[in-house]
Amino acid sequence: MSRPYVRSTAADITSAVNAGHVRAVEVVAAAEAVQRARDEGPTPLRAFVSVGFGPAADRALELEEGLREAGPPLALAGVPVAVNDNFSTADLPTTCGSRLLEAYRPPFDAGVVRRLRAAGALVVGKTNLDEFAMGSSTEHSAFGPTRNPHDAGRVPGGSSGGSAAAVAAGIVPCAVGSDTGGSVRQPAAFCGVVGIKPTYGMVSRYGLVAFAPSLDTVGTFGRTVQDAALLLEAIAGHDPLDSTSPERAVADLREALGRDVQGMTIGIPREYFPAGLHAGVEAACRAAIGRLKALGARVREVSLPHTERALPAFHVLSSAEASSSLARFDGVRFGARVPSPDSVDALWEGTRALFGREAKRRILLGTFVLSARHREHHHARALAARAKVAGDFARLFASGVDAVFTPTTPMPAFRLGEITDPYAMSLSDAFTVAASLAGLPALSLPVGTADGLPVGGQLVGPAWSEPRLVRIADALERALTAETSAASSAPAAVVTA
Ligand code: GLN
Repeated sequence: MSRPYVRSTAADITSAVNAGHVRAVEVVAAAEAVQRARDEGPTPLRAFVSVGFGPAADRALELEEGLREAGPPLALAGVPVAVNDNFSTADLPTTCGSRLLEAYRPPFDAGVVRRLRAAGALVVGKTNLDEFAMGSSTEHSAFGPTRNPHDAGRVPGGSSGGSAAAVAAGIVPCAVGSDTGGSVRQPAAFCGVVGIKPTYGMVSRYGLVAFAPSLDTVGTFGRTVQDAALLLEAIAGHDPLDSTSPERAVADLREALGRDVQGMTIGIPREYFPAGLHAGVEAACRAAIGRLKALGARVREVSLPHTERALPAFHVLSSAEASSSLARFDGVRFGARVPSPDSVDALWEGTRALFGREAKRRILLGTFVLSARHREHHHARALAARAKVAGDFARLFASGVDAVFTPTTPMPAFRLGEITDPYAMSLSDAFTVAASLAGLPALSLPVGTADGLPVGGQLVGPAWSEPRLVRIADALERALTAETSAASSAPAAVVTA
């Protein structure tokens, strides 16, 4: 039987389901068939830690019933969505990619999951990630690495690599991930999909297991800018259960679609095109900048002078916060408990021994930089660097620049096992951490290929400028798609289900 909804957009699925032209249960069945096919054979994709197609199908039936009773159209009616496994879900485990939480079932749904359900979306499973969202390759998951759908020998990026892979492989049209320093944008770039990290606070973090709370955001993936934007719009907005989500109206992101970029000023920060940037990445990004110019944008070379300080500051601050966030996994409050320990120390040690190497490294680093002797030298300086990085962006946006355009990553997806040194690994986040430190919205979209692998371009704008970023990205996406289909009849970087 042909399944027309495989690789359909969320936008098409929702209008077809709302109109009663397509059954939501069949959309779920199609997603399940693709997931099974991708996980069979010698190189399983392993995008999911757990799947819940059964419960999703039950919800699909309830949804169909509701729609038949002439309920109002829903923003994501019948859209299968994958959710990173660090968001709490009452009907599926929430492991955070960790042995510690292997058997954990939260008693509640995260704010985002509640909104997804209210919008008619069907959560079909929980996606793989680096343990507690710490990493850039999804190789630090206790449940094994996810593969890149474009090349089974390569990583999908991380930490939200499972979500990016599930979207790129055509299992779901869109997915939710967490982005603390790039974990939505970097895997989006590596997997050739769109990823949006919104302004800090735009989406509720209630029920998202904390990594570094002053940096943690909830982001979205889609195969198109429109889908990533539709999903973001559906989950955004004030949540009284998250005190960092401000009470402000959710921006209309649909309004931003199908428009032009005439007269907008795009800054190209020279620090993001250093010597040593992968030549193919540079070429694809320069070509995209040329496209923006051709579309009528004013392109200006600019400088963000404190860029170099972003990555070290990010690691000091995120590890400091992680050492505090992860203290709750002690076998008493949260985390697997060793049976019959003979002392409290044995109880703690038994649980905390279950952390993987990378999580342990971050806890040690974070505890060190917060210790009385080192706090001034490391933590205070990192906070100062964070303010400088934010100041760079503030000055630039005050000078009339609407958004900046950069490569999302300095290189395309690397091979599984290729990078073992944590410092070398973190270099793939060099271009994404600054927006996180400054709390600004940023969007990654596919802009071409290098060595046959996807390349992402990143737009960063002032706080709450999501509509502007979506507008620019959507215009650029249309121009690049037209170019690709003119050049060849095969769409770029397609993965067949
Ligand atoms: N890759 C970065 C890190 O390892 C960022 C992770 C994230 O955004 N969750 O910390």
